[in-house]
Amino acid sequence: MAKNILTLAAERVVIFDGAMGTMLLASGLPAGGTPELWNVEQPAIVEDIHRQYYAAGSDVVHTNTFGGTALKLADKGHAEMVEQVNIEAVRIAKKACPEGRFVAGDIGPTGRMLPPVGNASVDELEAAFYNQAAALLKGGADLISIETMFSLEEALAATRAAKRAGNCLVVAAVTYNKTPNGFFTMMGESVNQCVESFEKAGADVIASNCTLGSGDMLELVKDMKTATAKPVLIQPNAGKPIAEDGETTHYEQTSQEFAHDIKELVGAGADMVGGCCGTNADFIAEIIRQIR
Ligand SMILES: [Zn+2]
Repeated sequence: MAKNILTLAAERVVIFDGAMGTMLLASGLPAGGTPELWNVEQPAIVEDIHRQYYAAGSDVVHTNTFGGTALKLADKGHAEMVEQVNIEAVRIAKKACPEGRFVAGDIGPTGRMLPPVGNASVDELEAAFYNQAAALLKGGADLISIETMFSLEEALAATRAAKRAGNCLVVAAVTYNKTPNGFFTMMGESVNQCVESFEKAGADVIASNCTLGSGDMLELVKDMKTATAKPVLIQPNAGKPIAEDGETTHYEQTSQEFAHDIKELVGAGADMVGGCCGTNADFIAEIIRQIR
């Protein structure tokens, strides 16, 4: 049987990457720029970021395609570039990918809201996700990773689209907020509701990333592990954002503090771990130092 992230997870904890946006901004992407265009305009910089993550020990890196649906690219007038930016993104990541490691085709939110908040339709979102997933798989992505979804309905549309686009492994993540009554998505969906729906839609890995820091994720992973027998991926932020003059300058945790919490997350059952906002390749290297 060919190795994939599920067979690897049966042997040991699988290490994903950290933030892409944080590293692109550090490499000169202007604030408000379209990161996905750099797959075409600055491929060497994107490739270098992937190489840094693989060198730090990531088993899986995410392609630079977080905003790669036509709906999101349309914000800056680039809707027609869906296929090109997604295929190029996978090509760049595969070029950097060492033997035995993996490339996850990244899918993030469309930026369109479903009722009652907005007027997008589930069919419209699913069609956009299908086109993106098809391009990522055409490029040769080993799996599809759906992340930073604030709405379960949108995440499910992406999961169904990815499963229709090809016979691929799908990681499905929503972002939770912590409330006195437990963890809920921005739209009010519970952990149990999300896990059950993801399983029905065929997700292979149940995930959560962003918003919460590594400390809060410790409670969350226990709830997730209680709700599912499938592998669980957790990618926390590096604590809370620190802002100066209204702009985030950095995140509060050091790589050591972050990796210490990740070790506890693994102890609590996380099968796969990585970082989200505020993390970089140093954070991944530190995770590996602390858990191996
Ligand atoms: Zn994040």
